[in-house]
Amino acid sequence: MTISPPVKEAVRAIILFGSPGAGKGTQARKITSRYRIPQISTGDIIREEVGSGSSLGKKVEAILAAGRLVDDETVNQLVEARLDSKDCRKGFLLDGYPRTICQARALQGILDRMPCRLVIIEVQVGYNETVRRITGRRLCAQCGAIYNIYSHPPKVADVCDGCGHRPLSIRSDDRPEVVKKRFHLYQEGTVPVYEVFRSAGEKIHQVDGTQPEQVVCAQIFEILEAEGSNDHP
Ligand code: AMP
Repeated sequence: MTISPPVKEAVRAIILFGSPGAGKGTQARKITSRYRIPQISTGDIIREEVGSGSSLGKKVEAILAAGRLVDDETVNQLVEARLDSKDCRKGFLLDGYPRTICQARALQGILDRMPCRLVIIEVQVGYNETVRRITGRRLCAQCGAIYNIYSHPPKVADVCDGCGHRPLSIRSDDRPEVVKKRFHLYQEGTVPVYEVFRSAGEKIHQVDGTQPEQVVCAQIFEILEAEGSNDHP
C-alpha cells in the first residue's frame, strides 16, 4: 500500500518582502482580504506588545523607537506561537518576517512541519522614495488606515476618512533620522535572507513598488494566481 504525501498546495504561505515604506502593509491588506488569510506582521505584533505595556513590550520599546531589530529568539517565538493558531491553517501572509538569516532558518523549520506552498514576493523601492514615503506616512490609531500626506492624503487634513478619528499618528520609528538606519538595516540584514530561500530552490518574485498602488496589486495577484489557486471570491 502506498501512503500519499501531504498535499503541498493545501496551505499557501506568502512572504512579502520590501524595504520599510515599500507599501508592504497596504498590499498585504489587499492580499489577505482577497484570499481570506491572516496578515502576520511582526511589526504590528511588537507594537501591540508595546501598546499593551506587557513586560515584553517594555523590554522592546526602546529598540523599536530606535529603529533597531528585536532579538531573533523573541521574534521567532512570537511568530511560531502565531502560526500555531487555527486561523493560519488555510494559509497566511508574513509581513516583516523573516528579517535575518536566523529568522529565515527558524521559519524554514516551521514550514517543514506544515504542508504548505511557499510564495515569496519582494516589493522594490529605492532609498529616496523610501524616505519620502515614510516621512509622509500617517496612521489611524483607531481603524488602522494608512495615509501619506504626499501621495494619499486624507480628505480632511489629519482626520481618518474611514472612521473620522483624529489626529492621525506618526510612528516613532518613521522620524527621518531613524528611516535611514532602517533602510540600511534592511539592505544589510534582510537582502542576504533571500539567499537562504534561493539556495533552498525558492523563487523570489520581484515587483516594482514605485508603480501606482493598483498596478503593484494587480501584479502581485497575477503572481499568486500563477503560483496555484487558493479559494478566493
Ligand atoms: P515594521 O512595521 O515591519 O517596519 O517593524 C517595526 C519595527 O518592529 C522594526 O523596526 C523592529 O524594531 C521591529 N520588528 C518588526 N519585525 C521584526 C523582525 N522580524 N525582527 C526584528 N525586529 C522586528
